[in-house]
Amino acid sequence: MKEILQDLSFAEIGELVAETGEKRFRAAQLYHGLMQGKRISDISDLPKGYKAKLLERFEDEPVKIVETLRASDGTEKYLFELSDGNLIEGVFMQYKYGNTQCVSTQVGCRMNCAFCASGLGGLVRNLTAGEILSEILVVNALHGGTLQKRAVTNVVLMGSGEPLDNYENTVKFLRNVSAEGGIGISPRNISLSTCGLVPKMYQLAEEGLPVNLTVSLHSPSDAERERIMPVARAYKIAEILKACDYYFGKTGRRYIFEYSLIEGENADREHAEALAALLKGRPCHVNLIRLNEVKEKALSGASEKAAYRFLGVLEKAGVSATLRRRTGADIGGACGQLRAGRLKQE
Ligand code: SAH
Repeated sequence: MKEILQDLSFAEIGELVAETGEKRFRAAQLYHGLMQGKRISDISDLPKGYKAKLLERFEDEPVKIVETLRASDGTEKYLFELSDGNLIEGVFMQYKYGNTQCVSTQVGCRMNCAFCASGLGGLVRNLTAGEILSEILVVNALHGGTLQKRAVTNVVLMGSGEPLDNYENTVKFLRNVSAEGGIGISPRNISLSTCGLVPKMYQLAEEGLPVNLTVSLHSPSDAERERIMPVARAYKIAEILKACDYYFGKTGRRYIFEYSLIEGENADREHAEALAALLKGRPCHVNLIRLNEVKEKALSGASEKAAYRFLGVLEKAGVSATLRRRTGADIGGACGQLRAGRLKQE
């Protein structure tokens, strides 16, 4: 694999242009072309000879869409191919207030949660910062977005992979995606979801990047959480809550818990009551979602009735919570499902 030009910040592209003896204004032309989601070979204001030189060292199209699925609710799901042939996926969801893109941070995942399709084949490799960014650049361009008027307004790091297990590249991506003059998506419009890697949560709090921190909790009890999330053996819920409070102290950002309701595992009234007791009075919000069933996993989503009962218990206790629609459920919206399906066909 060649290098990924989209890994570089504007300042680094400036250095590259200077090193190669090109005129300084070429840096802005190159950067703007890339941020518009163009391939190097398609940036029309650069001389052909210079593009040829760049292409000897850099990938022309690090991330390309090879399949698109459209759901009845307008959600789109993409299968992306990377330069080395690996596959990742992303989702584009349209809301009244803007459009949210869900991006992957790794090929596969090594967290092996019991309900999730992303971990089925383990971790293959980390994405580079520029590959994560390219997922957005490509989709923004696909929907006619420009740098002045973006089609992608919000980003969630909730695709395949554990962002804090690919820490350096994820933080670099966060800096580049929010940089002024680029696509410029503010950290406040970005949510980073983690299964709860406590030391990295503390590290993230120090980066000066006030992204919305989201933690996949899925249970109010350590013992039950361990059954569905192996990572829970390493980090206990009390430590996670402490790290969340630290993050809140540093960034002033309310934190969010993801809670996927699984029948017979974590969706009973007792679970809701224990969760309410745990979270009451904290500056947090709970996103409930009924599990999207994954063929390869023997777990079912809780019924709609159980989900509303769960929500009611939280609300009654004064814990802020919403039950999310299963956007794109008819196209296999959950993490890793599209890729898992494709790998099976091959
Ligand atoms: N590794 C990160 C981010 C990726 S997963 C994390 O663990 O948070 C994004 C969210 O989707 C997580 O809350 C994850 O637990 C949840 N998820 C995974 N598979 C799911 C499924 N089949 N149905 C519902 N939610 C699922």
